[in-house]
Amino acid sequence: MCWYKPLLWPLAQHFIAGETVAEAMAYGKKLRRKGIFPIFDVLGESAGGKQEAVRISQQYIQILNEISASKIKGDISLKLTAFALDYDEETCFRAVSRVVRHAHELKIMVWIDMESSSYTTQTLRIYRKLLQEYDNVGICIQAYLKRARKDILSLLPDEPKIRIVKGAYPEKSEAVYTSHRQINGHFKQLLRLMSEKDAWTAVGSHDMQIISHALSLPFPNHLEFQMLKGIRDDEKRLLVEHGYAVGEYVSFGEHWEKYVWRRVGERLRNLKWILLSVIGLDK
Ligand SMILES: Cc1cc2nc3c(=O)[nH]c(=O)nc-3n(C[C@H](O)[C@H](O)[C@H](O)COP(=O)(O)OP(=O)(O)OC[C@H]3O[C@@H](n4cnc5c(N)ncnc54)[C@H](O)[C@@H]3O)c2cc1C
Repeated sequence: MCWYKPLLWPLAQHFIAGETVAEAMAYGKKLRRKGIFPIFDVLGESAGGKQEAVRISQQYIQILNEISASKIKGDISLKLTAFALDYDEETCFRAVSRVVRHAHELKIMVWIDMESSSYTTQTLRIYRKLLQEYDNVGICIQAYLKRARKDILSLLPDEPKIRIVKGAYPEKSEAVYTSHRQINGHFKQLLRLMSEKDAWTAVGSHDMQIISHALSLPFPNHLEFQMLKGIRDDEKRLLVEHGYAVGEYVSFGEHWEKYVWRRVGERLRNLKWILLSVIGLDK
């Protein structure tokens, strides 16, 4: 364990639900009492080969059983690199479809996160294959990617479930919009497209400009909001009070450092909490 992990823990708890499945389930129950549904995400590292992919799919199947047994209505979200996408696409597909099939039997929704743009084409290919067999699976599309509109249009005939987010990975500038204005403009265009095509839409953002824009459009098929744990709790509550479906992305697991640093990177002001926790004034 790295020496500073215990120092980071007070800050980490703001963004993650704990290190174990039991802690995540307990947090999920609390959320349900607030009318918010959890979207469980196991924090992990890229899997090596076939055996790792099998191991991770078994871990997810165990989590699905826990969700089902604890009667928490919740989704799960996963990253294909944790299922050995780097090793081989077919191995990855087989491991993920085991999880999606089990989730289908338990009536649990599975979200596929979108990683850096070097994985976009493969991720969409795997998603399309899963959609041929299962309707309990959704995909994340990143508004900073210039290709996003084309990707959505290509998925629409298969009746996808799409979560639109801004995008979180450092990317080469030709592939992405880089300014806040461009990304928000593109995000709004994609929301309009989803609305016009009457597509199943999840908005993964804490940006009130984006949320207000989504609220101004008709989404007769489905509209839900998804936000991360520890961010915009008041807005989550308000949306629930107004009758909207709100999900919270609940990350948990032992490998939480990268995730917490990413959240901190998004909001440098969170460094204030690191400093306070280091000197013990975080309570
Ligand atoms: C449910 C969900 C799933 C996601 N899945 C993916 C994925 O699969 N692939 C991917 O690339 N990205 C994913 N993301 C991350 C996303 O791409 C953005 O990096 C992240 O949501 C921040 O963008 P924003 O839309 O909230 O807007 P921003 O402009 O970053 O933030 C808007 C406002 O929200 C608040 N805020 C935002 N972040 C923080 C923070 N860390 N701490 C405190 N306040 C904050 C601030 O008030 C800020 O002004 C996901 C996000 C969500 C909510």
